[in-house]
Amino acid sequence: MPSANPAHPERYVGRFAPTPSGYLHFGSLVAALASYLDARAVGGRWLLRMEDIDPPREMPGAQKAIVDTLLSYGFEWDGEMLCQSERHAAYRAAIERLLDEGLAYACTCSRKQLEAYPGPYPGFCREARNSLDDAAIRLRVPDREYAFVDRVQGEFRQHLGREVGDFVIRRRDGLIAYQLAVVLDDAWQGVTDVVRGADLLDSTPRQLYLQEVLGLPQPRYLHLPLIIQPDGHKLGKSYRSPPLQPQEASPLLLRALRALGQQPKAELDDALPTEILAWATSHWDADRIPRTRTLAEAQLR
Ligand code: GLU
Ligand code: ZN
Repeated sequence: MPSANPAHPERYVGRFAPTPSGYLHFGSLVAALASYLDARAVGGRWLLRMEDIDPPREMPGAQKAIVDTLLSYGFEWDGEMLCQSERHAAYRAAIERLLDEGLAYACTCSRKQLEAYPGPYPGFCREARNSLDDAAIRLRVPDREYAFVDRVQGEFRQHLGREVGDFVIRRRDGLIAYQLAVVLDDAWQGVTDVVRGADLLDSTPRQLYLQEVLGLPQPRYLHLPLIIQPDGHKLGKSYRSPPLQPQEASPLLLRALRALGQQPKAELDDALPTEILAWATSHWDADRIPRTRTLAEAQLR
């Protein structure tokens, strides 16, 4: 099984892990910036991982656009970008192990059958010993609560059995679920600190459970407030915003810094992106990040 990077057991390793279902938007810039600064401020490594495991939802050209935007905004990552599409052997191996150990099982329930049960999956296939063909694979969750202390959001608890239920780790069409891929890759890349949007707060207990059953280390977590549009729209995966423009890099980086509670000095207004990042790295204070789940974009201008 994959294990943490043994080369630097204590050194901070952070990452930014965009999904190429659309362009980077202001909310993803905030996540990229916070994960970058939190790593660089302590001399840590910062990795880039393209979460391209869902080809049907991928927007053509998005991968290149994301990389180009990061570069034009002054971000430099360590090593080569990792693409999840190259990691299928590892995902398959983990699924086989979970099946062998009886921790996962094949589920043949159709969407139609489950429509009548809007809550957690009712567990119909738990003991069914279905064939793996044309079946989703679900992870059996324990009937207990998982809790962790987020660096910004504080204590977060979720009862996996009652609030989540046995969740899908491989879809019926063969696609690997985000929850499994993210846990395997964070461990494989030796990530010590996950900094990402608060939309993923309620995925974290599932990820803690996966780390536990796969014997992987648990990173620290920092969930950032989500940026909300004036119309109440979350800037998120399903929302197709226009690309961030290179000529807007400096003003948008400054705005993202303010969203993170940092106080960029006025002289930075005319600075280059790399100068802004250098200043922000030496002045980074994660304690200033607003302790809320959402932030209205309109208040940041
Ligand atoms: N790929 C996910 C997203 O774009 C982020 C995954 C993570 O940071 O854990 O929302
Ligand atoms: Zn089922």
